[in-house]
Amino acid sequence: MSRLTLLLAAIIACAGCQDGAMEGERPNIVFIFTDDHTARALSAYGSVVNETPHLDRIAQEGMRFDQCLVTNSICAPSRAVILTGKHSHMNGQLTNGQRFDGSQQTFPKLLQQAGYQTSIIGKWHLRSAPTGFDHWQVLRGQGPYYNPMFLTPGDTLHLTGYTTDLITDLTLEWLEEGRDPDSPFMLMYQHKAPHREWHPGPDHYDLYEDTDIPEPPTLFDNYSNRASPAAEQGMTIARHLDVTDLKLRAPRSMNEEQAAVWEAVYGPRNEAFHAANLQGDDLTRWKYQRYVKEYLRTVAGVDDNVGRLLDYLDESGLADNTVVIYSSDQGWYLGEHGWYDKRWMYEESLITPLLIRWPGHVAPGSTTDAMVSNLDFAATFLDLAGAEVPADMQGRSLKPIFTGQTPEDWRTSHYYHYYEYPAVHCVERHYGVRTRTHKMIHYYNRGEWELFDLASDPMELTSVYDDAAYADVVTELKAELERLRTHYQVPEDTRPTGPCIPNERGVPVPPAE
Ligand code: CA
Repeated sequence: MSRLTLLLAAIIACAGCQDGAMEGERPNIVFIFTDDHTARALSAYGSVVNETPHLDRIAQEGMRFDQCLVTNSICAPSRAVILTGKHSHMNGQLTNGQRFDGSQQTFPKLLQQAGYQTSIIGKWHLRSAPTGFDHWQVLRGQGPYYNPMFLTPGDTLHLTGYTTDLITDLTLEWLEEGRDPDSPFMLMYQHKAPHREWHPGPDHYDLYEDTDIPEPPTLFDNYSNRASPAAEQGMTIARHLDVTDLKLRAPRSMNEEQAAVWEAVYGPRNEAFHAANLQGDDLTRWKYQRYVKEYLRTVAGVDDNVGRLLDYLDESGLADNTVVIYSSDQGWYLGEHGWYDKRWMYEESLITPLLIRWPGHVAPGSTTDAMVSNLDFAATFLDLAGAEVPADMQGRSLKPIFTGQTPEDWRTSHYYHYYEYPAVHCVERHYGVRTRTHKMIHYYNRGEWELFDLASDPMELTSVYDDAAYADVVTELKAELERLRTHYQVPEDTRPTGPCIPNERGVPVPPAE
């Protein structure tokens, strides 16, 4: 594309820009993205388990979204939804195991056409090579916490150090030396953390060592009063965290004589020794502390590095004309319902954090409970760039919301669909609808339903689907669910299903011959 064509495209694209801003004034976009970070481990959302002062800055200087709901609570599918602005059944990425079709329309490609430089550094996790980016340095697959390799259009980079720090180093390097300072940019700065198996960085090995993390009220959920899938998954803290998650192999419990021998060999009785003698709920509590502390340490690493990036934006003078967005690919269980991991349409994994800062445009310290979604991100980025949002994108721009003018016809119901079964953690396929007051879930391969009254039962412990008092709600929500499935053009899921029996790690055991 010639410079003249680019300029013309920019002028046309900018016809709707605020205050008639010209090419040079279109905002830069920095999308900060993590993997598996629950809003309940972010102090901007009132966390009772940790502090995230740097991430909180984005909320303090911008808007916090309290109802950002994902369409499919699992890693690669969420990334595909964000890139395309379309539900999983439209972009083809139903599960983690599939390869993203990078030939399709994505918002980075459209931003390139609108004259933006596009860059992605960090976790990609979509198997195919990134498309639509002028610059990319991405982890291979899940990527390790230490000494990662980064795939690039040229040579593979092999780096030594802590991945969260290195992703930031590469990002700052690109901002300082790699980009063209004369045109706006869209940067995706994407962390692996705090994904399993939660390896902290050198600055945080000992964080929380002398503290007990508060337990959630549903840590010992017994899954009664719900459809069958909740009790049959493989993602409990009690039974499905193994030695690689806990980083400690407790010795078998022993009598005093054996203990004396142990002490002679290994020294003073340590945490592993004491853990070996724990049982039942006490053992679950111990595992909860081990797991959550490691998770929160990796969050602390992200928070420090986000601070480095925000400081750079300030010092370089970029901050004023840069929209900073923070989100994660889905929510996560920090022990609620006895779980780790995500996947469910229940609130903890359905809701993902979303913070947006744009100096002069977003009121500092503002919040919204508008029902938004990762489905809306692509349209938002295009709108910020003054580019047209294609009619086949299924989300809507959030710009009116964070600039203080929530449209009166904003959505009041949300469609959700999870597909990855049988697979790790054995969470049954389900779809459903969430309104402000209720949630209905259909486990369609089992013919089972759940209905939760979110006002009277916010922890979703009792399905009222069969309660006669809710008959009208059931009828109403079934109609709404059908309306949404038609609106989003959702086909029946006819792929084969099967039994799923998880092992100690939550991985399905192959069925016996
Ligand atoms: Ca994830």
